[in-house]
Amino acid sequence: MPTPVNRQIVLRSRPVGMPKPGDFELVESRLPAPKDGEILSRTLYLSLDPYMRGRISGARSYAQSVEIGQVIVGATVGEVLESKHPDFAKGDIVQGYSGWQSHGVAAGGTVRKLDPRQAPVSTALGVLGMPGMTAYVGLLDIGRPKPGETVVVSAASGAVGSAVGQIAKIKGARAVGIAGSQDKCDYVVGELGFDACVNYKKGDLLAELKAACPGGIDVYFENVGGDVLRAVMQLLNMNARIPLCGLISEYNATDTVPGPNLRPLLFNRVLVKGFIVSDHLARLPDFLKDCGGWLREGRLKHREDVVVGLEKAPEAFIGLLQGKNFGKLLVRVGEDPSR
Ligand code: NDP
Repeated sequence: MPTPVNRQIVLRSRPVGMPKPGDFELVESRLPAPKDGEILSRTLYLSLDPYMRGRISGARSYAQSVEIGQVIVGATVGEVLESKHPDFAKGDIVQGYSGWQSHGVAAGGTVRKLDPRQAPVSTALGVLGMPGMTAYVGLLDIGRPKPGETVVVSAASGAVGSAVGQIAKIKGARAVGIAGSQDKCDYVVGELGFDACVNYKKGDLLAELKAACPGGIDVYFENVGGDVLRAVMQLLNMNARIPLCGLISEYNATDTVPGPNLRPLLFNRVLVKGFIVSDHLARLPDFLKDCGGWLREGRLKHREDVVVGLEKAPEAFIGLLQGKNFGKLLVRVGEDPSR
């Protein structure tokens, strides 16, 4: 039998503007061995997320950058191959942070065991993982929608946005999405049950948003920034709330991006609060209970966009920054034994 190797994607150069395939490199190394208290897992799914653009840039951020030559960070679901930790056994499925590689060694305390009978294990990276939790805490703890209010969310068909609108509906609010194609808008309204969705790449965004939000906007869950934010700002109601979650339209900018006109925030006493989901881990049990329940009841739907093969990760990640993904973007790195 050939000796198994660890396939890894490392950062070859820091991207300037939109990343290019040549900024990434696939390398092979020996399979790592777990020490006492650690596990070795083979990766089944790798999550690709917008925050990775910040990690591969050298710019100051809330987290440390990936260095040139290092494996790119990322959340994963894997199968335990060898365990030197009492809580894990060979064959367990775990959610951890192996990054862009086929195998990883991790301290037992940094991974979470998954139960494939509760939900498909890939959901631990999406609707029941970090993106779902981002939607849950951002909307409920900062946006605080009341029944009858209008919640608008950008990147509405994506991992975070799709959950935001559905949770808003569960809480009795109106949900209006903004997305980058007619297909995405049709899905957001037809499948997810939003009240309306505006395609920001076509037509007059402000006019269409005004028509979709006749009573104005009470909560704007911000995922993109730029022109979308500028349009939304003109429709904010008194005491509106803006959970500032992401600004993906600016992640590849090489110059300072001009800001929006802040006057509507002042006049309307609007609350804007930036948040990072990892600061809200105390809410994990509530999130898993509520969103796990809604998922099982069919009230919270989700969509995965799965590419097959670790070597496809760079191209898929670049696609994410161009809006090519449709749903939670995952790379299937190895066969999922629970499916
Ligand atoms: P998505 O699954 O929504 O994928 C990204 C989507 O963003 C694309 O499909 C595209 O959708 C949209 N997009 C890409 N480029 C642009 C652009 N230039 N202008 C406008 N839209 C663009 O990703 P996530 O749901 O995982 O993430 C959504 C946002 O949430 C991101 O900003 C991310 O950084 C943020 N986030 C923040 C967290 C926090 O802790 N604060 C945690 C997790 C995510 P479309 O075709 O509709 O334009």
